[in-house]
Amino acid sequence: MEATLTQEQKEIIQRTIEAQEKRARTPWNVHPKQQAVREEVRAFATEHFHHQSEYWDRLEGERKFPYDLYRLMGREGFIAYAMPPEWGGLGKSHLEYITLTEELCYHDAAFGLLCNVGELAITPVLKFGSEELKAKYLPQTVKGDKVIAFCLTEPDAGSDAANQGTTAVEDPATGDYLITGEKIFIMHGDVAEIGVVFCKIEGKPKVSAFVVETNQEGWKARTLGHKMGMRAATTGAVSMTNVRVPKENLIGEYGRGFRYALSTLDSARVGVAAQGIGVAQRALDEAIAFAKRRRTFGQPIAKFQAIQWKIADMSTRVEAARCLTYKAAQMQDEPGVVYSLEAAQAKLYSTETANFCVNEAMQIHGGYGYIGEFSPIEKLYRDQRVLEIYEGTSEIQRLVIAGHVIGR
Ligand SMILES: Cc1cc2nc3c(=O)[nH]c(=O)nc-3n(C[C@H](O)[C@H](O)[C@H](O)COP(=O)(O)OP(=O)(O)OC[C@H]3O[C@@H](n4cnc5c(N)ncnc54)[C@H](O)[C@@H]3O)c2cc1C
Repeated sequence: MEATLTQEQKEIIQRTIEAQEKRARTPWNVHPKQQAVREEVRAFATEHFHHQSEYWDRLEGERKFPYDLYRLMGREGFIAYAMPPEWGGLGKSHLEYITLTEELCYHDAAFGLLCNVGELAITPVLKFGSEELKAKYLPQTVKGDKVIAFCLTEPDAGSDAANQGTTAVEDPATGDYLITGEKIFIMHGDVAEIGVVFCKIEGKPKVSAFVVETNQEGWKARTLGHKMGMRAATTGAVSMTNVRVPKENLIGEYGRGFRYALSTLDSARVGVAAQGIGVAQRALDEAIAFAKRRRTFGQPIAKFQAIQWKIADMSTRVEAARCLTYKAAQMQDEPGVVYSLEAAQAKLYSTETANFCVNEAMQIHGGYGYIGEFSPIEKLYRDQRVLEIYEGTSEIQRLVIAGHVIGR
């Protein structure tokens, strides 16, 4: 990517690096391993992110997928950070993985999301697939060589995802399944070479999941346009007509697909919580730096109590979101521990914190926040909005939390 940075962009990058260095010196409750991840990502992002962010964000009209960046991050191990080394992962803890996500999203949330989408779609195969399925599909996907998508949502099955209309019909001649149906809002669904597709087998009431190769006539996909934020990571709609899949490509057991989806979403929700922390911390750092240099009525606006209170609230919420998210990730690292409640609490709180912090950061920046050429706040505002929608809306997180704490 050609680096043509304006003076303003150079200043933004410089401020980002300074804020990161300051945080690196702050002795808060971070495990030394997490600190190592932060430093690794900072070096990576400084080299590979900053000069590409604006290009991929503004590319409306000729939207395309950032294959080079996706593969670069895949080879770096960012997609499979917490996956076992025998399948090409780095074998890190989930705590380290969510720290990775947090830091990637601090620099560019859409680039962090690219890695998270790969991880989301690979997880059902890794956790529930047969050894044959893993051997066939994991080597192609964990390093980013092939793009994989998690295809659950349908035009009439979003929050109510168990209400799948996509059906698989057995072909008696071959024993294969022929899948027909529509999927929408699928991250990387427009370019995916492999899809993890949830559907109902004809005549059976429960959801199953298959690994589908998309280079077939019946698979049609398009990129959804006019997306508000997270633009580097594309989102697609998929239409399937008799897409052939061998029965060996069933993930796990028949009729257990929805359980696999929910289990995958528990893990992914901790990741989305980490995306929220990255965005919220960035908004906080930008707001503090701006408040110190912007002067009105003869003094920096940071001297006004109205501004100080906003920053105090932002920083408190960011730390609270970290506590919830790190707790959920640590539970995830304990074999056999159920962490659905904690994942939902972390996702709900962190994503609402991102929304709160970016909104306050924009208020603190005034006009310089609303106009994208002056600060990253306008992009942060657009990027964060989807965090409260995908992988279960805030309303659905509240339902999950209430179900756990009140009982059903
Ligand atoms: C950018 C983007 C990327 C996405 N990526 C993927 C992906 O990779 N794979 C995938 O499968 N899906 C993906 N999704 C889909 C996403 O998970 C759904 O959009 C989300 O679950 C909500 O579903 P819906 O949009 O159909 O809204 P609906 O389910 O129609 O909900 C509409 C509103 O009603 C509320 N609501 C619904 N039911 C209840 C209830 N019982 N109680 C209270 N309120 C309720 C919702 O919270 C929401 O506010 C993505 C979505 C977006 C926008």
